[in-house]
Amino acid sequence: MNKALRKAVIAGNWKMNKTPSEAKALITELKPLVANADCDVVICVPYVDLQVALEETAGSNIHVGAENCHWAESGAFTGEVAAPMLKEMGVEYVVIGHSERRQYFGETDDTVRDRTRAALDNGLKVILCVGETLEQREKNITFETIAIQTKIALTGVSEAELDNVIIAYEPVWAIGTGKTATDEQANEVNHFIRTLIADLYSKEAADKFVVQYGGSMNAGNAEGLVAQEDIDGGLIGGASLKPADFAKIVEAASK
Ligand code: PEP
Repeated sequence: MNKALRKAVIAGNWKMNKTPSEAKALITELKPLVANADCDVVICVPYVDLQVALEETAGSNIHVGAENCHWAESGAFTGEVAAPMLKEMGVEYVVIGHSERRQYFGETDDTVRDRTRAALDNGLKVILCVGETLEQREKNITFETIAIQTKIALTGVSEAELDNVIIAYEPVWAIGTGKTATDEQANEVNHFIRTLIADLYSKEAADKFVVQYGGSMNAGNAEGLVAQEDIDGGLIGGASLKPADFAKIVEAASK
């Protein structure tokens, strides 16, 4: 498995933070700090911040993503946003299956699969989140959990379409808790995901497939994590709201 075949992706997940004017200020501060990045830089922002994010990042190396999309093209789904709407705006990425959506909004493996399908059908790049809870880790079913989530989400996704999918391994117990998986714990599961991709598709697909780590990644621990053989960058929550910290993570992934 050759890390050199893959370009790391550092993606911020702003969650439900920042009004449009705050988003504009954050991006203005961030742009010069990451201008020389040797990795892909993405910010995934609340729907209402997408327009300002697209305007402020135009001509820069920062890519813009949404934090979710619905599985239907359109219809009677009050409060939801469809993939074609994001595409038409110029949005490039979308986070699907984040653990907070699974935990608080009834997201299931089946809806994650359907949202993934809609995103790919509409030319969006998917950051697909998988991860075990603390209870699942303690019961020793981490790998089974990750395998089920991954296999269901990728049902019907072709090897060619895999070019537009990233998987973010995010142990639920490490998200927003300040508890990071150790470099070895994270790499072990990322490696497992890559092996799964090799089994489901091919070794060639697995070698170039980007697998991020997410869960309390910050300016202090990023370097060790992204240096691991199977960790190709990160999905960053809290630290993505602090431009200097996010830039340090980008710098670590650029080495
Ligand atoms: C996330 O929201 O995907 C995440 C990893 O959050 P945090 O970095 O705050 O743990």
